[in-house]
Amino acid sequence: MIPPLSVYVHIPFCLSKCPYCDFYSVRRDASGVDPSEYFRWLRREIELLSRQIANLEGRTVASLYFGGGTPSLFAPAMYGPLIERLRDVFLFHPHLEWTLEINPGTLSGKEGTGNDLPLSSSAHPPAVAPPDFDRLELFLEMGINRLSVGVQSFSDRTLERLGRAHRMAETERLVERINALAAGAAPGNLTWSMDLIFGAPGQTLADWQNDLQQAVVRRPHHLSVYGMTLHRGTPFARLLRGGRLELPDEETQRAMFLEARHILIAAGYEHYEISNYALPGFRSRHNERYWTGGEYLGLGASAHSFVSGVRWANPPNLLRYGKALQSGRLPRRFERPPRGRAQLGEQVMLALRRLEGIDLEAFYTRTGCNLTRVYRTEIARLSEAGLLETADGRLRLTEEGLLVADAVMLEFF
Ligand code: SF4
Repeated sequence: MIPPLSVYVHIPFCLSKCPYCDFYSVRRDASGVDPSEYFRWLRREIELLSRQIANLEGRTVASLYFGGGTPSLFAPAMYGPLIERLRDVFLFHPHLEWTLEINPGTLSGKEGTGNDLPLSSSAHPPAVAPPDFDRLELFLEMGINRLSVGVQSFSDRTLERLGRAHRMAETERLVERINALAAGAAPGNLTWSMDLIFGAPGQTLADWQNDLQQAVVRRPHHLSVYGMTLHRGTPFARLLRGGRLELPDEETQRAMFLEARHILIAAGYEHYEISNYALPGFRSRHNERYWTGGEYLGLGASAHSFVSGVRWANPPNLLRYGKALQSGRLPRRFERPPRGRAQLGEQVMLALRRLEGIDLEAFYTRTGCNLTRVYRTEIARLSEAGLLETADGRLRLTEEGLLVADAVMLEFF
């Protein structure tokens, strides 16, 4: 039997560009592409994929994720034809997990047919807009049953320093509304996740503790907690290099990571992946697919896919993405069947992200690779350093290993 698939749809438009952001996204008013045109390209991509990839048509989709960028920037009506096309090609699982990422600053303005939010001409708009949740409820009527809310912080000062286009007041109203809707829905029919960032400029450990406490009070089913990472080419990275940006020091960032573990676990959340926590039974099924080596199809500019043993990525460029589709070609930045040590390293890296680690026997059955033999030296060295442990037939990161996970994972490449 062909296992179900996960589908990711990338909507690369944002109100403004956050100065630390490394995701492929562009300011909607500066993209040079009409978003309606982009939605047409997405439909074209689905059509071409279903013709060119054997057995794709008719496959069951177990999770669908609209991410970005800022997918909540657009009215639900804009998604209608795209969803129809997805339903034409795929079979939606009766228990489909269907996630929409929401930026609290975008659920305002009246419901319309498309680009109905006021355009921002500033990189840091002072955004406290009147609440209007028609948009949210229409998304839920469409079938979305999981909301991922980009809260980032409960402090306006931190939000401002992060260059975010929303403020605490908007988060408050949105979260209150989501909780009311979730309480009225049949159990499990609406769940939500909250994104938080630690290590922001000027953020103290006390600020972070406050963010965590505020988060816990609002009881999201799931929390994604990210440490700030500065990627080359972002405005924050340039400021840091020029000595014009100060981030919490390494010791404070370690303390922040551990504080998240402490407060969230005490509040009943399970720490199940380096950056993710969930109430029992509410892990992200979509993301679990990435970490467990399952198949996923990514649609849109910059999206990645792994189907039938082949990995590919679309170009992180709207015009290149659209041009290929307009000329009847699938847009590709690369396409390759994964091979050798890099492929193995990638699988280990993803699997080690989960706190339960790698079931060595199951890994062997799935891949034919005896990890403890192939990586004998690396595992011994990392275990001796207290960063990895093997117990109950599983290889996993220790708490110390979680703090330096990226460096540990590099050892497997
Ligand atoms: S809203 Fe999200 S995707 Fe858009 S620029 Fe900010 S961090 Fe990046």
